[in-house]
Amino acid sequence: MDLPFAGKTALVTGAGSGIGRACALTFARKGANVAVSDITEAGGQETVKAIQVAGGNAHFFKADVSSAHEVQKFVNDVTSTFGAIDCACNNAGVARKAPADLVGHSEEEWDFITDINAKGTWLCMKYQIPQMLQQGGGAIVNIASILGLMGWYNVAAYSASKHAVVGLTKSAALEYAAQGVRINAVCPGVIETPMLDEFRNNKQEAVDDEDSTGPIPHPIGRLGTAQEVANATVWLCSDEASFIVGQALAVDGGATAR
Ligand code: NAD
Repeated sequence: MDLPFAGKTALVTGAGSGIGRACALTFARKGANVAVSDITEAGGQETVKAIQVAGGNAHFFKADVSSAHEVQKFVNDVTSTFGAIDCACNNAGVARKAPADLVGHSEEEWDFITDINAKGTWLCMKYQIPQMLQQGGGAIVNIASILGLMGWYNVAAYSASKHAVVGLTKSAALEYAAQGVRINAVCPGVIETPMLDEFRNNKQEAVDDEDSTGPIPHPIGRLGTAQEVANATVWLCSDEASFIVGQALAVDGGATAR
């Protein structure tokens, strides 16, 4: 059995659904103890159960990543429970139904999206990094988006928040690389998860539509899976990626290649 994370602890935020759940399950399959965190208890507990049924070790920690107090408490609780945080996947994020153009964005929508996606990623790293420094190292992967690498129509706040995730990743990577904390981002293309249901009524549209203001075309001719994003994320956290620092890796079926 291939258990490169045996004896290590991996923390995943937004692990009650979609990409976060796939990351949590993949870390567990590769031997990690998994700290499953989410704002929603039901989804998080389902992920914990799936890990335990498969013979792994996981524990649920409820936290809203946009709250400094809750993030600080959950990072402390994970450390008390498992003794260390070797890997962290900061994945919790939101997108909104019925996106509008920039002028049509409401202040409430801007605050909601940026508080969770951008501030939430900063807060998670703010409290994870001191723990990793104290242990002598660790690896962090922040889940951004191809919309952190490019702009698109009717997603200005979301795209801005994901560009912020890439900027936070690169700055933090520079600051802590010499002290043994490796920090990277994964930028998924359009992935089949519950979040996609929020965005589009017709999933096939996202693959086929060549209209320049429509969904982003994916040259591979299909959408991605949560497992494909998890594979890249868990690999970036592994020792096999030991010289990779400060990168924003697109996992997007070629969407950003053109
Ligand atoms: P999802 O909606 O299936 O899962 C998101 C999870 O985050 C949910 O379990 C939700 O409860 C949790 N969450 C929401 N707000 C939170 C908060 N304030 N604190 C803690 N947890 C919170 O979505 P997904 O598609 O799995 O997305 C995961 C990440 O991947 C997000 O950051 C998203 O922006 C990014 N992403 C998704 C896609 C896609 O096409 N699905 C593409 C690019 C990037």
